Amino acid sequence: MTDYEAVIGLETHIQLNTLTKIFCACKADSWNAAPNTNICPVCSGLPGVLPVLNEKAVEKAMLLAAAMHAQIQSLSFFDRKNYFYPDLPKGYQISMYEAPLATGGYLDLPLPQNEARRVRIAKLHLEEDAGKTKNAGGKRLIDFNRCGVPLVEMVTSPDLRSAEEAAQYLTRLRQLLRWLGVSEADMEKGHLRCDANVSIRPRGAAYLNPKTEIKNVNSIDAVREAVQKEIERQAREMEAGHTIESWTLEWDEDSGKLKKMRSKETEADYRYFHEPDLLPLHISEEWKKSILTALPELPLERRQRFVTQYGLPEYDADILTAERSLSDYYEQTVKAYGGDPKKVSNWLMNDVLRMLNEKGMTADQLRLLPAHLAEIIRLIDEGVINNATGKSLLEKVQASGETPAAIVAREGLAKVSDDAAIRSICQEVIAENPAEVENYRNGKATLMGWFVGQVMRKMRGKADPNLARAILEELLAQ
Ligand SMILES: [Zn+2]
Repeated sequence: MTDYEAVIGLETHIQLNTLTKIFCACKADSWNAAPNTNICPVCSGLPGVLPVLNEKAVEKAMLLAAAMHAQIQSLSFFDRKNYFYPDLPKGYQISMYEAPLATGGYLDLPLPQNEARRVRIAKLHLEEDAGKTKNAGGKRLIDFNRCGVPLVEMVTSPDLRSAEEAAQYLTRLRQLLRWLGVSEADMEKGHLRCDANVSIRPRGAAYLNPKTEIKNVNSIDAVREAVQKEIERQAREMEAGHTIESWTLEWDEDSGKLKKMRSKETEADYRYFHEPDLLPLHISEEWKKSILTALPELPLERRQRFVTQYGLPEYDADILTAERSLSDYYEQTVKAYGGDPKKVSNWLMNDVLRMLNEKGMTADQLRLLPAHLAEIIRLIDEGVINNATGKSLLEKVQASGETPAAIVAREGLAKVSDDAAIRSICQEVIAENPAEVENYRNGKATLMGWFVGQVMRKMRGKADPNLARAILEELLAQ
């Protein structure tokens, strides 16, 4: 069989998390609203109304463009994209065509062995969303709540080479959108929507074969699965000597299958023309500069800095920078602690992350502050408490908001390092367990852990385990 490579481009629609819609004062978020309750004459397309551009939508789109390394244009304008569909009450969508908000740009995906796949951005512009239709009880229902919600449409060049890379692009894009605070980027709620264009060709070939378009994929796993299945289908067709037709396919989540929707139309005649009700969008150098100044350190830059500045493994750096508030939390803890940054990373990756997942929180929502975590690690370093007590303190601080030292003092959690106290408990454990003692003395050395555990249990976790072990070894050797 020929060795094929996939050629994939992704078209994404990103819902910006502005308070209001792009051309009217209706709330942009209708997630829990009853159908058709969040609309006005502007977004439901009544005649005689005028759209007014939402400045915040432009700013969020500019911030995204800057983070994608795209060139923000000093002059852009909106066009009418004319087509008829029931969820589009005006009969046209206000979009950008001839002069988009930004041009160029790219997103780098880290690949193994320090390589990166640069995915170029072919198109980045602002537009309004359409409504939603659904079938229920033999009827076609329309909800206009989503009409006029601000979207950024972002289309990549066909630079992705596998289903895994397509999934990774979306993962990195979602990370970036949340990092910038421009979108909730929840695919299941439609904040981030993706269509995939897929073709294959013999590996190394420079030409492009006809592509198919996969629509309606609403999770990253589904994109990975749908694209992989389509790559395999096209390879089978090519091997059988068939040509690939430019179909539009729909991903059916329930069956995990691609269904043919219709033969793909050639670029439809949308009869674009400039939107006469909106002025051209002028972006001054000053405005652009203020956006570029507001641009935070980006996730991949921070990931790289964590490796060089703190000596973290890439694996740690990747997890800690998956989300901006977590990476801030990490740096604040390292600063407050002043010791080994890798030790802080271990605490975050093992314990704090578990806590965040269980509580469905982000790091900035915790009552357990970076200063608290730093204090817990220091108390262990100084021998005041043992590791297990330190771990139990996480929940206690989170629940009460008290400082770790205050809880240790009040609950008497300080480690018992008193040789005599531990020795008498060790003697008790030995006296109570003659069978284990005999087994140990007959060579079952692994029982030592069990003996230490018994001592710790009797001392409610407060014994210094290293000291307990040393005393047990001494007593059992007699
Ligand atoms: Zn409205």
